[in-house]
Amino acid sequence: MSYNINNKGYYGEFGGAFIPEMLYPNVEELRQNYLKVMAEPEFQKEFDKLLKDYVGRPSPLYFAKRLSAKYNTKIYLKREDLNHTGAHKINNTIGQILMAKRLGKQRIIAETGAGQHGVATATVCALMGLECIVYMGEIDIARQAPNVARMKMLGATVIPAVSGSKTLKDATNEAIRDWINNPVDTHYIIGSVVGPHPYPDMVARFQAVVSKEIQWQLKEQEGKTKPDYVIACVGGGSNAAGAYYHFLEDTNVKLIAAEAAGKGIQSGESAATSVLGNEGIIHGSKSLLMQTKDGQITEPYSISAGLDYPGIGPMHAHLYKTGRAEFISITDDEAMKAGLELCKLEGIIPAIESSHALAIFEQKTFKPNDVVVLSLSGRGDKDLETYINYFNL
Ligand SMILES: *Cc1c(COP(=O)(O)O)cnc(C)c1O
Repeated sequence: MSYNINNKGYYGEFGGAFIPEMLYPNVEELRQNYLKVMAEPEFQKEFDKLLKDYVGRPSPLYFAKRLSAKYNTKIYLKREDLNHTGAHKINNTIGQILMAKRLGKQRIIAETGAGQHGVATATVCALMGLECIVYMGEIDIARQAPNVARMKMLGATVIPAVSGSKTLKDATNEAIRDWINNPVDTHYIIGSVVGPHPYPDMVARFQAVVSKEIQWQLKEQEGKTKPDYVIACVGGGSNAAGAYYHFLEDTNVKLIAAEAAGKGIQSGESAATSVLGNEGIIHGSKSLLMQTKDGQITEPYSISAGLDYPGIGPMHAHLYKTGRAEFISITDDEAMKAGLELCKLEGIIPAIESSHALAIFEQKTFKPNDVVVLSLSGRGDKDLETYINYFNL
């Protein structure tokens, strides 16, 4: 049994490229070239150098002493929160902007929900001097004013999606329409391990730098390259894919995914895809998604904008279906409590997405000698207002 992608673009039964015919040339160009380009020494060199000098990698693997004492196990935090722009998303956008340049593209499009991926995309477009168009639902634009301002400051054009529910899926539709109309000069930067093949695999490979660093950083601190557990939150699943990547086939390393249960699995306001979802096509790949009986995508809910997604990437659908990863649902309240606990115990204010992963320690007991690595996917600055309102600060 393999947990990685096969040569047809599938993780087990999940993945593939279910796209309108008019998009085929764009996706096919990428599919034919992505592995070749990524294998070029010059590409690798430029990618590594930007990760080091621009993003600030390697990100520390920090032994969280007080958190470990509280839960009587050995907890290491992989500090993606310390990256430039405050999260893991920049690893992927750096990779894709270099890919776009190699493929001769002049123009970048992206869609964004809460704006985090839009900001990461606008950042690398400024870095490379490429035109950047970000599609964003009209409602999200109103809700996420600071990120809209950031994108504008970085030189991007933010185009409102005014159809349907005026949120992420409508923005995605607009981006796809744009790409169909501009097949030659435009690259579409997708922000997670979702979308048609080869996106999930390409994004996972760009994020894989995370688990590669964990291996040598653990070796330095623990004398071994493998942890007993890797924990990460899953929205689409890119920070988890990066943290799991080099351990996927080694079943001695147990994988845990934290999903957003929102106000509770049965509350009708949730984003716990593994429990509430079933098989279907979302964003061009076969995966698990939350949908009505007749296949309409259900509006997800989570207090954290980054986990508020109605599906999971095909890699994670496969990890769930095969039992390779254990999926645990975390409510808003559990996550917020765990986030505040990290502030008090370690002096680190986490993104609310990452707080979902931290809440696992209240749900599950680890042994004193277990080495548990947790992907701290982002920092909490962007969530300050939510923390303020939630805790009446
Ligand atoms: C976007 C985001 C996530 C969720 O995306 P994945 O693709 O599941 O990693 C998690 N944490 C932070 C900080 C984010 O910005």
